[in-house]
Amino acid sequence: LLEILRYHILAPRYRAAFGPNHLGTPEELADSFQAWVDRHRMGVLAKAISIPYTTFGYGYYDESPAAYVLKFFEPGIVRALALQFKFFKWKEGAQTLWERLASGMDVRYSLEVREVRRGDTVLVAGRDRRTGEPFRYEYDRLVLACPLDESLSFLDASEEERALYSKILHKDYRVYLKRARVFRVPAGFAPARFDRSGIGRAMIWDDRVPGSGIHTFYVLGDGKQSDEEIEVGLDEDIRAMGGEPGETVARVRWKYYPHVSCQDYRAGWYDRFEALQGRNRTYACGEIASFSTVERVIRYSNDLSRRFFE
Ligand SMILES: Cc1cc2nc3c(=O)[nH]c(=O)nc-3n(C[C@H](O)[C@H](O)[C@H](O)COP(=O)(O)OP(=O)(O)OC[C@H]3O[C@@H](n4cnc5c(N)ncnc54)[C@H](O)[C@@H]3O)c2cc1C
Repeated sequence: LLEILRYHILAPRYRAAFGPNHLGTPEELADSFQAWVDRHRMGVLAKAISIPYTTFGYGYYDESPAAYVLKFFEPGIVRALALQFKFFKWKEGAQTLWERLASGMDVRYSLEVREVRRGDTVLVAGRDRRTGEPFRYEYDRLVLACPLDESLSFLDASEEERALYSKILHKDYRVYLKRARVFRVPAGFAPARFDRSGIGRAMIWDDRVPGSGIHTFYVLGDGKQSDEEIEVGLDEDIRAMGGEPGETVARVRWKYYPHVSCQDYRAGWYDRFEALQGRNRTYACGEIASFSTVERVIRYSNDLSRRFFE
């Protein structure tokens, strides 16, 4: 509680970091979050937020700039999580939420963008995955809301875009849905695996649809381990907790949490990123612009539209 209080007292100096983008973020937040924790003696707070940070796939405190972690855990979120235990799950998952939100809009799905050429207008060309037919559209502006490093494969990228987007890093976050019978601990977490010794092992698991017999396991991978290797470990865990492991119903490797290194953050990656907004009829948004949570992505997009489109 004392550290949460001290964090709130320190918070005004980090106001820019809590904002929608990274402009004006104090320089000390380019250091790793671990360095920030050591500097401000926030070890207890760091432990408390390690469940929604490390097990949610964002990795280890010594590898990411503190700016991202503070953006995630702005004081209001810390209060909601630590003092009010406010967690919620979308009842049907996130997919239907976005589908319903998009239902009244002109959203074209399943288009494989192969080429974007920018000049007096923006030409977007590619192939419709469902019909195989080519398409070609002309727009007045382009808003990139997909992985920016991957956009380099179809974008007529400038040197600056190429230089910035190719510096984006990710985490290898894996999610496995497994059947298990007579599993004594249907949901839980393993704090001993919240450091690199836990790579490839389940850090947290959940019973998302109670009674279904399907459990969701969350794992940080090293980018190389096969799913089979990891699933052997999951079966071991299930047995250790009195269960009988069954089939893996689904597995997904997420190219997760786009971010930049402490070094690139310090060297002004975000100043250069923001300076590109509006240049060449192009804008970029999405999680790299702020932080990888839905709330942060929406806040950045709202701010971008206010700055350039209202
Ligand atoms: C397993 C998991 C659990 C998560 N849990 C939470 C949570 O509990 N709370 C929370 O707030 N956040 C959570 N997140 C993070 C959150 O989902 C993301 O930060 C957020 O969805 C990012 O939004 P975005 O618009 O930047 O990217 P995305 O939602 O990834 O959207 C990018 C879109 O671009 C499309 N695309 C990709 N390539 C191309 C291309 N070449 N051409 C055209 N389109 C393309 C993709 O299909 C996708 O629809 C979770 C993420 C994962 C993976």
